[in-house]
Amino acid sequence: MESMQAAVVEELGAPLSVKDTPIPEPGPGEALVRLVTSGVCHTDVHAAHGDWPVKPTPPFIPGHEGVGEVVAVGEGVTNIKVGDMVGNAWLWSACGVCEYCRTGWETLCEQQQNGGYSVNGSFGQYMLVNAAYAALIPPGADPVEIAPILCAGVTVYKGLKVSEVRPGQWIAISGIGGLGHVAVQYARAMGMRVAAIDVTEDKLALAREYGAEVTVNALEEDPADALQEKIGGAHGVLVTAVHRSAFGQAIAMARRGGTIVFNGLPPGDFPAPIFDIVLKGLTIRGSIVGTRQDMVEAIDFYDRGLIHPKVATRELGEINAVMDELLAGQVDGRVVLQY
Ligand SMILES: [Zn+2]
Ligand SMILES: [Zn+2]
Repeated sequence: MESMQAAVVEELGAPLSVKDTPIPEPGPGEALVRLVTSGVCHTDVHAAHGDWPVKPTPPFIPGHEGVGEVVAVGEGVTNIKVGDMVGNAWLWSACGVCEYCRTGWETLCEQQQNGGYSVNGSFGQYMLVNAAYAALIPPGADPVEIAPILCAGVTVYKGLKVSEVRPGQWIAISGIGGLGHVAVQYARAMGMRVAAIDVTEDKLALAREYGAEVTVNALEEDPADALQEKIGGAHGVLVTAVHRSAFGQAIAMARRGGTIVFNGLPPGDFPAPIFDIVLKGLTIRGSIVGTRQDMVEAIDFYDRGLIHPKVATRELGEINAVMDELLAGQVDGRVVLQY
């Protein structure tokens, strides 16, 4: 049996082992993909550490922003063929028949499989995809730049959609990191006016470069007061921040009737002001990745040249260092592994 190099979680919380593992064989409905790149997401760190209530089972290979070429297809696969470029995603597959799947909410399917979590992901030279759920990568796309679209891109794009902010209205984007810097670009491409909130000046400068009209440094002024004063509050607020404090703060950034969408996923709770939520008619909703159709749309925005994630490339052997840097908040934009 042929083998490949992959980064394997052998024990939750331990460093990943970069080692030889067998190249998997595609079963019915699956395709084997030779990877070219894979983005590294904060969720991969949570997976390797077993941070969430439903834990993955070692040994497993993380990674859900993988881009590569189809080299073999299993029985019954008709929608992709050898030579196509495809990607994996967090939504690796869903059941297709439950109420959520039937109503266009496959991201909420209780039978879903998750790339790099319940099935092996893209931190290796090869991976399997479920052909019906794989993302199709358009010809000519830069495999480094498009990798972050597969999780960060589709996640913020969907979050912006469910904020219900219309063209010409204000969206406040809290946190200009791996997700947030892509969110500013999507929001502008969708015709929204952007207010960006962060605690570091260079991230705010980046947001201005991408078209944010208002920026607020939350260390220097109260972001809710600042937004109420400068724009009368935002019609929608997208929270991509990795700190809990940003979540309570976000509610006060909205104008009356506004919607606050949570994309970031720090552990814990926050106090929510009942009086404000009721009297101002606010909506607070969570949003997790996106459906296959959201993915098609998110990739189309990229393909039209409207989205350029900030990326830095590294090698598979550096994966543990990359994860440490993510944990320490030292990653600007997105790290993409190149094979
Ligand atoms: Zn992710
Ligand atoms: Zn389902």
